Amino acid sequence: MNKTILRVAVPSPLRRWFDYLPPKDTDPAILQPGVRLRLPFGRRTLVGMVCAIRSDSPVDSSRLKRALSVLDQQPLLSAPELRLLLWAQHYYHHAPGEVVSTALPTLLRQGKPAIPQRQAVWQLTAAGQTALSAGQLARAPKQRAVAELLQAQAAGLNAEQLRFIVPKALPAVQQLVEKGWAIRTTARAEIAAKSATAPPLNAAQQQAVDQVQAALGGGAAFLLDGVTGSGKTEVYLQLIDRVVQRGEQVLVLVPEISLTPQLLQRFECRLPVPLAVLHSALSARERLNAWLAARSGAARVVIGTRSAVFVPLHRPGLIIIDEEHDTSFKQQEGFRYHARDLAVVRAQQADIPVLLGSATPALESVHNVACGRYQRLSLPERVGGAQPPRVQTLDLRRTPLDEGLALPLLAQIEQHLQRGEQALLFLNRRGYSPTLICHECGWLGSCQHCDARLTLHLRRRRLICHHCGHVQNLPLHCPDCGSVDLRALGEGTERVEQALQRHFPGVGIARIDRDSTQRRGSLQQLLDDIHSGVRPLLLGTQMLAKGHHFPQVTLVAVVNADQGLFSTDYRASERLAQLIVQVAGRAGRAEKPGVVLIQTHHPQHPLLQQLAQSGYADFAVEALAERQAAQLPPYTYQALLRAEAEEASAAQNFLAAAAALGQPLADEVELLGPVPAPMERRAGRYRAQLLLQARQRRSRHTFLQRWLDQVDALPAGRRVRWSLDVDPIDLF
Ligand code: ADP
Ligand code: ZN
Ligand code: ZN
Repeated sequence: MNKTILRVAVPSPLRRWFDYLPPKDTDPAILQPGVRLRLPFGRRTLVGMVCAIRSDSPVDSSRLKRALSVLDQQPLLSAPELRLLLWAQHYYHHAPGEVVSTALPTLLRQGKPAIPQRQAVWQLTAAGQTALSAGQLARAPKQRAVAELLQAQAAGLNAEQLRFIVPKALPAVQQLVEKGWAIRTTARAEIAAKSATAPPLNAAQQQAVDQVQAALGGGAAFLLDGVTGSGKTEVYLQLIDRVVQRGEQVLVLVPEISLTPQLLQRFECRLPVPLAVLHSALSARERLNAWLAARSGAARVVIGTRSAVFVPLHRPGLIIIDEEHDTSFKQQEGFRYHARDLAVVRAQQADIPVLLGSATPALESVHNVACGRYQRLSLPERVGGAQPPRVQTLDLRRTPLDEGLALPLLAQIEQHLQRGEQALLFLNRRGYSPTLICHECGWLGSCQHCDARLTLHLRRRRLICHHCGHVQNLPLHCPDCGSVDLRALGEGTERVEQALQRHFPGVGIARIDRDSTQRRGSLQQLLDDIHSGVRPLLLGTQMLAKGHHFPQVTLVAVVNADQGLFSTDYRASERLAQLIVQVAGRAGRAEKPGVVLIQTHHPQHPLLQQLAQSGYADFAVEALAERQAAQLPPYTYQALLRAEAEEASAAQNFLAAAAALGQPLADEVELLGPVPAPMERRAGRYRAQLLLQARQRRSRHTFLQRWLDQVDALPAGRRVRWSLDVDPIDLF
């Protein structure tokens, strides 16, 4: 007799499938891949997903357990969506249960029904429209901000959306309701056809749109290579419009940091269609609603960060990945997938085009263009003919410095401020100073849990470890020799801010880093102050370097480029080049061209020379040639086996045992290590790694498949935490 055996992904870190028998008396019609089951698992009850239905099992059927119940009448994921997950599981050699969990909203993982809950939305009334245009809200800025939002979004906005864009929006919208200017409703309103009009495209934009449009309905991968402000987003918007008109959906992936209210507003104003947003600040309910709206096709455009690559779509037509070089697309823990790479696979499987956009494409993507896998679309100029900023190095050798700022830089800032323009300083280091040292005996403030220095946060009077979060009070004297002569070595944003206050008294400074923007809404306030001109001096970490437009900024300074020039990580130069170009992109517009100054002790460094003289594209060509000569990715394929344990020897021993198992299998791959991680001790654990490198993707895959089964069984593995990272982007 033919048995029905369900192959299930169970939420467990084990790298295997589990077979179950269907619950008694189940209608076979509802047993399909993509439905959830409640299952007995050890002594627990878990929710798993059926990924395949078979007639046999390696486990003897008398020993197979029965599932308790089927949770869905219809599959949650369609066959193509499951296929992507299975592909990812296979490629990354990861536990199937964790792969499937990544793709499901929390409530579904918990076994809640896949039913949307209708949420109340607020809409602006006709009276509200009139009041707004008559300027009656001029003295209630919060209410006006909310009213303007509601005006732009005729379908209304729910509490979550309002709060995401305007902090403390709910009391304000309540006041609008009391005046009769807004209403709260659960009815699904018709979306107004009216939207902000699209500008006519320039020739390069038009060509990009035409080429992608011609590819709709079939598979193709495009790299939209265009400097900041060249109109990439405009290309996305017009393409989305066309795809939606075909009755298809668009998935837009963006880095976490650029999913800002400004971006959403721009999409919402321009696209008069239901839009679903998936980001980490959503409540579980909101996330499920957005996910279901994508799945049913109710949402025509889905914007999300990394994990949205797995969101089910009723009729996918196009996938867009903005800032495709951004490292936040790679998940760095658990299931370590790369959302950009999976998006390309997904588009290929679904036979739809995928569009990757960046001003500083990843070297992998540049390489893929060179190999003919991606078609390059280029937007060489800024919209409106704005000149690209001039990039210059500022030689720090023998130059007097004040808290890391060279006098010529201070003089330039002065000039730009006097002309009523703004200046932006980039320093990728928060806190006051990265090191506290005793001037008497040389004692250094170090973290007791990590191989790292504690960062001095002077205003909070604390020493903080930026790696494990350890916090301690600022010592008044040296713990070793008792001297009170403790000095701060090096600069962080807090210290540079003080220096700027001293040099430019009375000038408003916007410091933007994780410390200064912790309070909800404070980032928005700072950005408002920059745009209104209240704070013409901008200082910040990469929070400032990405995603924002500051049209008044005409001077950009990279305070310290040397940090990235001499790293042991072979990707450091690519990252530095991208960061410099991204920061530079914040500056200038048509009438006011920008200047970029890079402070360095190594002005002759080829990377800086190249960026200053010929730009990112030439840098990328050169950097790829170096990668090829050194046989590094994308010319070879890596995987990293990491281990950590409370005892240093445990991690090393496990990796050594794993390497020994690998040697006999490793004819087409190289095993390098094990070696201690660059920062060996972190959060009290010792970390080590074993690097695997292959000339062919296929030989890496075959090796991993055979090797991991043996590694899984290693007794030494039980004493460590270990993980595999396929295509690692950080070797630590
Ligand atoms: P990017 O995404 O490449 O940084 P954007 O699409 O944001 O560039 O465009 C930069 C600015 O130029 C935006 O304010 C946008 O509205 C405007 N813009 C883009 N394309 C055009 C166009 N064809 N005509 C007029 N303005 C445009
Ligand atoms: Zn001392
Ligand atoms: Zn620490």
